[in-house]
Amino acid sequence: MNKIQMVDLKNQYQKIKSEVDSSIQSVIDSTAFIKGGIVDEFANNLANFLSVKHVIPCGNGTDALQIAIMSLGLKPSDEIICPSFTFIASAEVIGLLGFRPVFVDVDKDSFNVTAKNIEKAISVKTKAIIPVHLFGQAAPMEEILAIAKKYDLHVIEDTAQAIGADYTFSNGEKKKLGTIGTIGCTSFFPSKNLGCFGDGGAIFTNDDVLAEKMKMIANHGMKVRYHHEVLGVNSRLDSIQAAILNVKLKHLEEYQAARYKAAQVYTEGLKGIEEIETPVEVPYSTHVYHQYTLKIKNGLRDKLKDFLAENNIPAMVYYPIPLHLQKAFLQIARQGDELKVSEELSECVLSLPMHTELDEMQQSYMISKIKEFFKA
Ligand SMILES: *Cc1c(COP(=O)(O)O)cnc(C)c1O
Repeated sequence: MNKIQMVDLKNQYQKIKSEVDSSIQSVIDSTAFIKGGIVDEFANNLANFLSVKHVIPCGNGTDALQIAIMSLGLKPSDEIICPSFTFIASAEVIGLLGFRPVFVDVDKDSFNVTAKNIEKAISVKTKAIIPVHLFGQAAPMEEILAIAKKYDLHVIEDTAQAIGADYTFSNGEKKKLGTIGTIGCTSFFPSKNLGCFGDGGAIFTNDDVLAEKMKMIANHGMKVRYHHEVLGVNSRLDSIQAAILNVKLKHLEEYQAARYKAAQVYTEGLKGIEEIETPVEVPYSTHVYHQYTLKIKNGLRDKLKDFLAENNIPAMVYYPIPLHLQKAFLQIARQGDELKVSEELSECVLSLPMHTELDEMQQSYMISKIKEFFKA
């Protein structure tokens, strides 16, 4: 049996090696390492895939969020609402830019922020919401959009973990995650569902004015070279990463199917173990399973994790400390309400290996070991 890894990028690469290698080689031959035509080509292909008007590539997912927030013209101490149960990047840039993160609780089944919790946290200073589509499925965007409209708030979707997932509105309309709010942000970090061979990110919007502004911010605040209209940043997707992503985008749907299949095998195999709750799929979103995350009852999470490690099965806790309890935020953040669910989840979640290359033998081995632990 192949060694089990959280993410298996090596075997994924082997299957597309010739395509990827020749795509990289053509960038090297062109020596257009920055702003090569391939970057625009990838941005166009991604815009078509997502059915969104503008895709602005940038340096990484954290930059994407930063540039998105910078484009909104907020004032110091304005507030931005964000879930507490997420990766720090979702909230870090809020504080970094001098705004106040307001943390809200998530739903215990979907792990995603709820509209009700958002509404409770709104103050006169609230200007934006950052819903995170955690682990690969959507936050309840239809309800979030309704609240955003009611209170005149911007919505920045953090789609770093859910690129390619579809949202279905109550009227049957479907949209790709990241194209629903004012702005969508994503990451091409290697382990993400659409990952490159280094750092990369992108911003999506249907708003022409914001798109212009964000392009300018990402490029030192200039439209015309050496004419700097605003303070910006230097955040680019380089040509080699774009060349890789252009190939991998063609395989994204097949990768999604492989992840989905692996998730179903886990869920079927772990059915009936009393101490385990398998992931809940919400009706309004497809699930692209960036992570396959269990809830382990009776305080047994850490013991199970150790037992799996002894049996050469990696498993990870995403995330062990909710953001409102992180030292970095203690002075600057506000808590919208009690954040009990985020705290409880940080104690009981466990993510199993999830990637496109899991095979039957690896999965049945993992399932049998988990059963052995619970004597199920
Ligand atoms: C990975 C990730 C980011 C940041 O992406 P980077 O490219 O690593 O900067 C932001 N938000 C979430 C939810 C993520 O998982």
